[in-house]
Amino acid sequence: MLNLVLFGPPGAGKGTQADFLIKKFHLTHLSTGELLRNQIAERTELGKKAELYMDKGFLVPDSLVIEMLKNELLEHKEVTGYVFDGFPRTVEQAKALDEVLSKNGTEIAGMLLLSVEKDELIKRLLARAKTSGRPDDQGTEIIENRIHEYDEKTRPIKDYYAAQNKFHRIRGMGSVEEIAERLIETVSAL
Ligand code: AMP
Repeated sequence: MLNLVLFGPPGAGKGTQADFLIKKFHLTHLSTGELLRNQIAERTELGKKAELYMDKGFLVPDSLVIEMLKNELLEHKEVTGYVFDGFPRTVEQAKALDEVLSKNGTEIAGMLLLSVEKDELIKRLLARAKTSGRPDDQGTEIIENRIHEYDEKTRPIKDYYAAQNKFHRIRGMGSVEEIAERLIETVSAL
C-alpha cells in the first residue's frame, strides 16, 4: 500500500492536489472534512455535534474524528493506498492513524506539506467562499480561527513525521499543475 498524508493550512490546495495524486498513483482519497460535511448533510448525531465546531472554524474533537476514520477504513479494505487529506490534524490523531495502519500491516509512506504564505491563503479562501457554499469559508473571523487552529494544534505534527523521516515540504505557490508536478516528483522518490 502507498499511504500519503497531504498536509497544509486551510486554503493550501489539499483537495485540488489530492485529485492529482489519486489519479497518478491509483489511490483512494480520504478527506475527513468531506466525511464530516456528509454527516452534517445527513443530520446524523455525529454531524450535529461536529457542526457546532466546524461552523466556527474550530477542530472537531479527536475522539469523534478518530472513530469516524476507523469506521471509514474498515469499509474500504481492498484499496491500494490512501491520500489522507485533512487528517491527522493533531498529534493524537497522527498516533491513532499509525496504530490503525500498523494493525493492518501498513504505514504512512510520507507526509507532504504544501507550504503557502498566509496572505495568499486568506486570498484563496475568500475567493473560494464565493462558490464553495461552505459556512466555514464565510467571513474573515472564521477563517482566522481555522488558521489559528492549524498553527496551534496541527502544525506540530510536522515534528512527529520528521522524527520518522517522513516529512517533505513542497512549495504550494504557483500554478496548480506546477504544484502537482512537484508533489508527484516527491512521491515517486519515496
Ligand atoms: P477541511 O475540509 O479539511 O478544511 O475541514 C473542514 C473542517 O472540518 C475543519 O475546519 C474542522 O472543523 C473539521 N475537520 C476536518 N478534519 C478534521 C480533523 N481531522 N480533526 C478535527 N476537525 C476536522
